[in-house]
Amino acid sequence: MDFTREKYDHLVLQLRNCGYEFITYRQYCEGHLPQRFVILRHDVDLKPSNSRAVALDEKNLGSKAVYYFRAVPESWDEKIIREIAAMGHEIGYHYESLTTCKGDIQKAYNDFNMNLKRLRELVPVSTICMHGSPRSPYDSKDIWKTYNYEELDILGEPYLTTDFSKMLYLTDTGRRWDGYKVSVRDKIEGYQEQWDKVGWSFHSTDDIIRALKEDRLPDQLMITTHPQRWNRFGMKWVSELIMQNVKNIVKGLIVKTRNRHD
Ligand SMILES: [Zn+2]
Repeated sequence: MDFTREKYDHLVLQLRNCGYEFITYRQYCEGHLPQRFVILRHDVDLKPSNSRAVALDEKNLGSKAVYYFRAVPESWDEKIIREIAAMGHEIGYHYESLTTCKGDIQKAYNDFNMNLKRLRELVPVSTICMHGSPRSPYDSKDIWKTYNYEELDILGEPYLTTDFSKMLYLTDTGRRWDGYKVSVRDKIEGYQEQWDKVGWSFHSTDDIIRALKEDRLPDQLMITTHPQRWNRFGMKWVSELIMQNVKNIVKGLIVKTRNRHD
């Protein structure tokens, strides 16, 4: 049984046993990095209560993480945002302004600023991370071709400010760990093929746990999950499994239609 909260907890425990220190993305941007560390990143696309449950497990396991919230009702829950921050985790903004503003850069920048301000009224925010919006023709990161987030006291954006020549990126996109093959935007161009070649491509969470036990992973890791996928085993777990299989087929068609790797 994969993509259960029990399995996620097992992964966190294994990381700890293997000597990985847990740092937030803000800490990564600030430098002073431990020899061996993992950034547990969570994109709160929907179902924020799942994120709260994962955050509590992480706290109880002595780890910390970064949670990126979207400025939409299905993600934005002010009580939960505050609660997760109070557990010692980092909160960031999971922006999609260029998509919601249909490619209008000026409008998108205003929208970004407004949402960032609202989030900062709740908790400190130092980093941001784009929401992939696979069905949108717009890549929200493109806003930074015109504007500079550093002027807004933002330290980093995982897709833009991470040194992936040193860090392995794993994501549960598509409810599998090798879903970058069907992902429209959640993948790291230029590195994915190299990682495949050295055997850093995994399908199940157990595959990652096994690689950790055998000490086959590099010292720097970023592991991204979407907590809405991770449920205690039961009906929610079954419905997420079915939904994601349908979505993967649709995404595969989008990637094929575009015939380019973005
Ligand atoms: Zn997202």
